[in-house]
Amino acid sequence: MPVTPPGPAPAGPEQEAALVDAVLRWYSSHARDLPWRHPGPPEQVAWPVLVSEVMLQQTPVARVEPVWRAWLERWPTPAALAADSAGEAVRAWGRLGYPRRALRLHAAAVAVVERHGGRVPSEQAELRALPGVGAYTAAAVGAFAFGQRVAVVDTNVRRVLARAVQGSAEPAPALTAAETALAVRVLPHAPPEEPRLPARWSVAVMELGALVCTARAPRCGACPVADLCAWQRAGAPPDDGPARRGQAWHGTDRQVRGRLLALLREAPGPLDAAALSAAWDDDAQRERCLASLAADGLVVPSGGGWSLPL
Ligand code: SF4
Repeated sequence: MPVTPPGPAPAGPEQEAALVDAVLRWYSSHARDLPWRHPGPPEQVAWPVLVSEVMLQQTPVARVEPVWRAWLERWPTPAALAADSAGEAVRAWGRLGYPRRALRLHAAAVAVVERHGGRVPSEQAELRALPGVGAYTAAAVGAFAFGQRVAVVDTNVRRVLARAVQGSAEPAPALTAAETALAVRVLPHAPPEEPRLPARWSVAVMELGALVCTARAPRCGACPVADLCAWQRAGAPPDDGPARRGQAWHGTDRQVRGRLLALLREAPGPLDAAALSAAWDDDAQRERCLASLAADGLVVPSGGGWSLPL
């Protein structure tokens, strides 16, 4: 009877505690100076943190930072954004991609004003009830703005925990209940002298995944937990899950939608069909993309043509 070789042994409780300590020590000297991580009173930092987390969901830090700064300068509070049009939010979103996030952020600002008197709520259920705010974003705002002990599980955290604790090259294609349970298990408790320790761990492990334990080329030689890492101790076995493909861009409807929106962002008023034809040569694809932008509420009929939402 064939014998199946054992898989990598996951880390035990002592190794998990040592891993948390090592990551926290590493973070204290390697953290990037990201403006949305600057400490401050929760009522002041909650909105900047919420904006950053929505922008960072699918866009890298370097592209987010200038847009985030301009956004906060223009709309320093949810009330300021809510008083402006959704179209201005789409315009200010610029080239961050996935522009429905701009509409949702605007809708969230309106909801914060209507339901919470203009203050971003701290309760997880209230946060998750805001438009566009899912479990991850609510947890991030709870941890990074309000210092709550809540597991913040993004792709970077999932990758570090999969490798360092579970001994797998990659996490599962989609977040599993077991991964969430693991993230909660390793989340440290806050000692009286450092009530924000759980939040510091969350941002530290996220930073390790962004800077060292990266998706394509983990820098294990520079990793503070290399001697604890279950994947390294198992000999760095390759991923045995389904092949992961990068997202195509050229020639896709996403690219065409982006070009149409770029034209409309820069136009002083509505654009007609002839003007929009400059965005893309293929009439059928362009019309399809325009219709999908309209269905998403990102463009509206206006003056015989199209414009950003009014
Ligand atoms: S040793 Fe390598 S794989 Fe393990 S956590 Fe560090 S960077 Fe990631």
